[in-house]
Amino acid sequence: MKNRKPLLAGNWKMYKTCAEAVDTAKKLAELVTKVQDRDIMIAPPFTALFAVSEVLKNTNISIGSQNIFWEKEGAYTGEVSGQMLVSCGCKYVIIGHSERRQYFHETDETVNKRIKSALLYGLIPVFCVGETEKERESNETFSVLDKQVQNGLKDFTLNDLKTLVIAYEPVWAIGTGKTATSAQAQEVHAFIRSLIEKKFDADLASKMRILYGGSVKPENISELMSMPDVDGGLVGGASLKPETFSKIVTYN
Ligand code: PEP
Repeated sequence: MKNRKPLLAGNWKMYKTCAEAVDTAKKLAELVTKVQDRDIMIAPPFTALFAVSEVLKNTNISIGSQNIFWEKEGAYTGEVSGQMLVSCGCKYVIIGHSERRQYFHETDETVNKRIKSALLYGLIPVFCVGETEKERESNETFSVLDKQVQNGLKDFTLNDLKTLVIAYEPVWAIGTGKTATSAQAQEVHAFIRSLIEKKFDADLASKMRILYGGSVKPENISELMSMPDVDGGLVGGASLKPETFSKIVTYN
């Protein structure tokens, strides 16, 4: 029996206008209204955060953003700060997603600054890590993850990280339809938990939620969740339709 409450999180990426996001959120809320034993989060685009958080007030669905900038305010055209996210009703923030690393030159260092900022504003970071196909094929998976975790969590103390969520997202499985097998996911999740134990302590490691992300679907969520170190899913494509995401949220 796992002692960690599962978290099913939907990353809507750059999909949905404000009206579409509100409509999807309303439908999802109706479909998952009875769920109590797991946490649910959706991360709409910035432009829909406030409107979606208004319709999800008094529901069991929390809001997350897809990024955060580390300064409080200032002349940083196009950026969004932690206090802005909080004012829009956010509780979580996805940080270091592989698409941010790949297309927007995020580094472990900027990821570290974003995690710091999220924690400063009381947001729960969903810190994404994962290897590329090439790295897996050259047996670098563990060294890549070690580096991402060490650098991303540099200079934090145990107490800072009590709320932190890690999402293991093998880059080769994101949006490709290729899912890691449950055994592959378990192997990496156990490795990440051991890194947290070594860097911080066993108690933090045993309480930290580690999500799997990469082509999660209603058909594979139960198998993934049956693994001892898989504590939830970060879901892209399959979170866009309320009917599909609700099936993932309500897996048996
Ligand atoms: C993601 O965006 O985090 C993701 C895992 O995408 P998908 O579920 O579409 O692979």
